[in-house]
Amino acid sequence: KHFPIKRTIGEVLTRVPQRFVKAVDGISFDIKRGETFGLVGESGSGKTTTGRLLLRLIEPTAGEIFFEGTDVTKLSKEELRKFRKNFQIIFQDPMAALNPYMKVGEAIKHGLEIHNIGNSRMERKKMVKQMLERVNLSPADDFYYRYPHELSGGQRQRIVIARALILRPKFVVADEAIAMLDVSVRSQLLQLLIDLKKEFNLTFLFITHDLATTKYICNKIGVMYLGKLVEVGDFKDIYLEPLHPYTKALISAVPEPDPKKKKKKIIPQGEVPNPINPPKGCRFHPRCPFAMDICRQKEPKLIEYKGRKVACHLYK
Ligand code: SF4
Repeated sequence: KHFPIKRTIGEVLTRVPQRFVKAVDGISFDIKRGETFGLVGESGSGKTTTGRLLLRLIEPTAGEIFFEGTDVTKLSKEELRKFRKNFQIIFQDPMAALNPYMKVGEAIKHGLEIHNIGNSRMERKKMVKQMLERVNLSPADDFYYRYPHELSGGQRQRIVIARALILRPKFVVADEAIAMLDVSVRSQLLQLLIDLKKEFNLTFLFITHDLATTKYICNKIGVMYLGKLVEVGDFKDIYLEPLHPYTKALISAVPEPDPKKKKKKIIPQGEVPNPINPPKGCRFHPRCPFAMDICRQKEPKLIEYKGRKVACHLYK
C-alpha cells in the first residue's frame, strides 16, 4: 500500500491512496520437514511475496502461516525476533544484502551476537571461520577481514549463505539465490546448497523463475501465475506430465539437452495482464490456447487430480 505525496496547485500536498494489488491471493500449500519446495513463475506472479510472507518480512492482511504448529502471524514482535533464528532467507542480490562498510566476517558474527549464540567473542569468531571454510571461502583468515566489494558475486553469495546457515535455521527461503550469478558459478552454488541442505537437514523454499534449476534440488513444486497457485505436486509428476496449460508452457520452454529429442513448444499469447486489474474467471485465460467460455466467467478452484493439485477447468 503506498500513499505517494501529490503536488497540486498552490503546493498543497495531499495523500492519494493508490489501488491495492493482491500480490498473493488465497494460496495454500505445505512443506514437509527436509523437503525442498520450488515456487516457480514469471516475475509478478507473487512468488517472492509468498517467501517474504512466510518469514513475516511482509505482514499478511489475511490467512495463517504455521511453522511446526505455531501460527507465525500471531507472534508478537518480541516472540518473532526469537523465532527468526529458525528461518532465514537468502536474497537474490548479495551486494544489497550485505553492509558495504562491514567486514564480511563481522557481518556473519553479528547474527550470532543478536541471537546470543556462542559464549565469547573468540568462540563466535571461530564459528564464523569454520562456516567460511564450509562454504568454500578458504583461507577463512583472509576472507574474514574482507569487505563485500573485494569479493566476486559468487563469493558474496557464499557469505550470505554462511550468514544464514550459521544460525542453524530449520527453514530457509532461497529467493532467486543463484539467478544473478554467472552461469559457471551458478552450478557450483546450486551444488553447495544441495550439500548444505543434506548436512544441516534443512527444509527449503526455493523460489525461481527458472524451472530447469528445480530439477536438481526440488522434491515438490508449486507453479504460480498472477498471485495464484495453479499447480502443485511432486516434481517428477509435474515435469513428466504437466496438467495446467501454464505449467505446460513453462516446461516446453526448458531447453532440451538432447538435440534428437523434439519438444512441442507451447507459447502463451500476449503479455502478463496487469495485477491491479486481473482478468475475470481464470487469470490465465487471455493467454491460454485451450480457453473455453467457462474460463472467462468462472475462476477454477485448486482441485485434487492425479495425485496433485491443479486449478483449471480442463480437469474435473
Ligand atoms: Fe486455460 Fe481455461 Fe484452464 Fe484457464 S481454466 S488454464 S483458460 S483451460
